[in-house]
Order: sequence, then C-alpha cells, then structure tokens
Amino acid sequence: MLRPVTDTDGAPFWEYAARGELRVQACAGCGEPRFPPRPCCPHCRSFASEWRLTGGRGRVWSYVVPHPPLLPDYAARAPYNVVLVELEDAPRIRLVGNLVPHPGAPLGSLAPEQLRIGARVRAVFPADGGAPLPQWVPERS
Ligand code: ZN
Repeated sequence: MLRPVTDTDGAPFWEYAARGELRVQACAGCGEPRFPPRPCCPHCRSFASEWRLTGGRGRVWSYVVPHPPLLPDYAARAPYNVVLVELEDAPRIRLVGNLVPHPGAPLGSLAPEQLRIGARVRAVFPADGGAPLPQWVPERS
C-alpha cells in the first residue's frame, strides 16, 4: 500500500485526514492559507500558524491520466486519473488527488471521458483503515 511520507510541517495534515477532516495550514498572523505546509508565511513572514478546517469542496482545475511506463506500484494501477483540485474556500490552494465515482471506489474506476475541468467535487476519506489519503468524488447537485 502506498502511504504518505510525512515531515514535521505536513504531519498535521495527515493527522486531521485520519480523522476525516480536510484542513489546510493558515497563517495565524494575516490569515492567509498556504499549501504545501511550511514554517513561515510567505505573505507576512509570521511563524505563527493554525490548521483551518475546509468545507472539503472544490473544482477540478486540471487533470492527467498517467499510462506506463510508470514506477511498478503505479503501473499496476494504470490507467487512473490524477486531479488538481482548487478548494472552494481557499481558491489559491490546489490539492493533488484522485477522482473516483463514489466513496470507497477503487482507483481508476472513473472513466477518463467523465473527467471535466471545472467539475465540482468533494473530498472523501477511506473508511477501511487504510492510508488517510483524501480522494475526490463528483459533487451531486
Ligand atoms: Zn501571514
């Protein structure tokens, strides 16, 4: 199983994700959200930060469908999509993930022709005790 590689700055992201919360680091000084997590605010240079709960909704900003040659663990799963999602409540933050048709669906189960830039999506988290990697599902309106 592919597991996240954490560091000191990014560890809280994974801890919250394990609880089913999509949070992003934000500056406690000027309030600007930032990603990836890092010690200092690029806007006001404050070292004070907090982890802000997001609504977990966004839009597909871009996507790719990788095909072999890939590293062996990825080649076995191809083809699958990798989406870049722009968060609704922090539009300057774009998270990388996978779009699946419904929560718990396997990677690669969404037909590539269903991918659309601008599509509304929401974050879901695995309920099987696996890696707390957020996935994205289409938003039903
Ligand atoms: Zn700041």
